[in-house]
Amino acid sequence: MVTTSLLKLLACPICKTAVSESAQSPEVLACASCNVTYPVIEGIPVLLADQAQATP
Ligand SMILES: [Zn+2]
Repeated sequence: MVTTSLLKLLACPICKTAVSESAQSPEVLACASCNVTYPVIEGIPVLLADQAQATP
């Protein structure tokens, strides 16, 4: 999981707004504005536009 203090520093690379931990999985960060998720690999959030996965 990603700590709250780290989450505050993170922003979506597409829209630059804050991302939040997904309700479905702690291994995913979600951007509500873009409706995409980003993977968290071994505790490291991968906030890259080409890693964005569209939320169904
Ligand atoms: Zn976004």
